[in-house]
Amino acid sequence: MRIKSLLILFTLPLVADDINNLIIIGSGPAGLSAALCAARMQLSPLVVEGADPGGNLLYAGTIENWPGEPTITGPELIGRMRDHAASQGARFVSNTVASMDLTQCPFTIYFTDGSQLATWSVIIASGTSPQKINCPGEEEYWGRGIAICPICDGPLFKRKAIVVVGSGEEAITRALFMLQYTSNITIISNCSDINACPSLRKKLLAESAIKIIFNAQVTEIIGDGNRVTGVRIDSSADIIPAAGIFLALGEQGRTDWCGTQLAIDQKGYIILDGPVYTTVPGVFAAGTVATTVYGRPYTLALSAAGSGCMAALAAWNYICDVQGSVDALPADLNKTVCPDCWSSRC
Ligand SMILES: Cc1cc2nc3c(=O)[nH]c(=O)nc-3n(C[C@H](O)[C@H](O)[C@H](O)COP(=O)(O)OP(=O)(O)OC[C@H]3O[C@@H](n4cnc5c(N)ncnc54)[C@H](O)[C@@H]3O)c2cc1C
Repeated sequence: MRIKSLLILFTLPLVADDINNLIIIGSGPAGLSAALCAARMQLSPLVVEGADPGGNLLYAGTIENWPGEPTITGPELIGRMRDHAASQGARFVSNTVASMDLTQCPFTIYFTDGSQLATWSVIIASGTSPQKINCPGEEEYWGRGIAICPICDGPLFKRKAIVVVGSGEEAITRALFMLQYTSNITIISNCSDINACPSLRKKLLAESAIKIIFNAQVTEIIGDGNRVTGVRIDSSADIIPAAGIFLALGEQGRTDWCGTQLAIDQKGYIILDGPVYTTVPGVFAAGTVATTVYGRPYTLALSAAGSGCMAALAAWNYICDVQGSVDALPADLNKTVCPDCWSSRC
């Protein structure tokens, strides 16, 4: 397959300069990893950064699950990833995609500022938006005690009081998971009963360490100016002390701009046909915006980054094997891409 790809690569006719080989939509861990891998394969990828350059990791305080980095802040990690991708030849544009025309190749990407670009392939890595409470204090303390992912942030709250906001299985699963770190857990639910399958319900009721407050609404997140210290419910004078607040109100794939050209589920997640393949050949999806084969999105930065790399490899293969008419290697480079390390330097 690789030899075939290389042969095609060297016999490709030139195409117009203004058609990109690959446009990557999103600059979080998935988009930046895709950019790094694609740049090393000489695809000269263009990353569209979107409204949140760097993605969700920018809001993360300390990251403790990135291999080789026992602790690193989210902004530092994402800054390094961006610099690394840029140093290998990835290009960046500060813009947001408004829509796409995937009906004919090259595809057309339309931007919110009215401009447009043509591309032979696309990687969508536009992430998710968590459903928020929308109360005072939430924006101020986002990432400073307010968390979404217990696997990522759970260890930061060892032996500390935490609150889980939500009423469904997501909230219960998060509360049960956090038991390994703390025995001071309160679920605040706006429902009057536990909204979960019988086995989860039974597990929850058996846990005396988890307190549930029903029919309640978080109306304010309180802090000391630096980190979260508690929540106020139902605008009352009482404050529930908490060092951490886990939101479990659901997530939404950021795909409202994709239209109906791709298979997308009710929660906005791109439905994949294989690891990174969307329903449109030449269009790939990576990171939290896509569902996995298990029907659930990967939530970790590392899994997002891994799928970004896989999407870049898939795009390279697509360009070489399927498209067959793309100038994947810039003409002036005239170098061999090593099929073992994807480098032009070895
Ligand atoms: C507070 C917090 C703490 C976290 N802590 C950890 C942790 O410790 N460890 C861990 O593994 N994970 C952690 N996570 C999860 C981690 O941030 C995500 O797994 C990761 O960011 C997902 O990467 P992604 O590239 O798929 O999407 P995102 O990071 O969400 O990036 C999406 C990108 O797409 C762009 N975009 C969206 N729409 C458009 C558009 N229309 N046009 C162009 N661009 C667009 C956005 O601007 C953004 O750049 C945390 C998340 C949060 C919120």
